[in-house]
Amino acid sequence: MNRRTFLASAATLAAPQSPVVMTVRGPIAASSLGLMLPHEHLFSMFGEDPAEHAQYDSDALLAAVVPYVKSVQKLGCATIADATAAYFGRAPRILKTLSETTGLRIVTNTGYYGAANDRYVPKFAHDESADQLAARWIKEARQGIGASGIRPGFIKLGVDAGPLSAIDRKLIVAGARAHKATGLVIAVHTGDNSASVEQQLAILKAEGVSPSAWIWVHANQCKDDAAVTAAAAQGGWISLDGLDPATLERHFALCQLLKQQGKLGQVLLSHDGNSFRAGGKRPMRPYTELFTGLLPKLQSAAFSPDEIRMLTVENPARAFAIRGLPFVNLRMP
Ligand SMILES: [Zn+2]
Repeated sequence: MNRRTFLASAATLAAPQSPVVMTVRGPIAASSLGLMLPHEHLFSMFGEDPAEHAQYDSDALLAAVVPYVKSVQKLGCATIADATAAYFGRAPRILKTLSETTGLRIVTNTGYYGAANDRYVPKFAHDESADQLAARWIKEARQGIGASGIRPGFIKLGVDAGPLSAIDRKLIVAGARAHKATGLVIAVHTGDNSASVEQQLAILKAEGVSPSAWIWVHANQCKDDAAVTAAAAQGGWISLDGLDPATLERHFALCQLLKQQGKLGQVLLSHDGNSFRAGGKRPMRPYTELFTGLLPKLQSAAFSPDEIRMLTVENPARAFAIRGLPFVNLRMP
């Protein structure tokens, strides 16, 4: 290496790299995400038969979702992480169209959903190794999903109730390895299963992955407050993402508890809403309660503007920022 090349590469290494989040329209600075809902479903076919390529009536879908998204944007939402995983309705091209049509920033995912009794885990995942599964997700992260060129911004996994099954354990190991190669955060549908939280964190530790790269999805469903604060104490993200009028008090109580513990910087708030469900078995589930219910309630309980900003803007930006060296492969548009 000659001196000029050395200086150039040294400058590249020394250059401060501001954190980046991968959206369906490419990488953007994490600081520009604005208010973000970190766990919603813009659409899904959850409850329908698993399908590698989801079939939607895209005209009907867009006719329902575009006006709804616009109404949520009017409340202040700028970015949504879409938690609809492969095999129950992920459709990156429709997400991109939605983003282009509305201006909403959208983050999609890679990984497999092992909850719902593994219904949406593809058959080959039972036979392949954790490394083979990780390789599939790493390929999506680097080259895009299918031929779409659209890259995921997080790893979405799911586990069933009780101790981790063999397949659920393999998914967590694969997620840890895919994280190390891509820097994408690992969000695991876990719910009221604190025993599996312990197991998941032990796997991450064995794989050399920080708990700060892991999100306990649906932690609001856990009835054991000590388990929630213990996971936060270990450094994990606590996703309180089932907001609706019926769960408002529980979300509020958990926000207060985590504030008392000094862990507000690890809390994510969302609804697990769904603005279009193929098959139409259940009515759409709104994602507005944060704006109309929880934030006003937090403000009246003396949560400061800085704390509200932390919960709704800064925490999601930090949670979804791509970690480590993978940054160098990202080209900003
Ligand atoms: Zn969900």
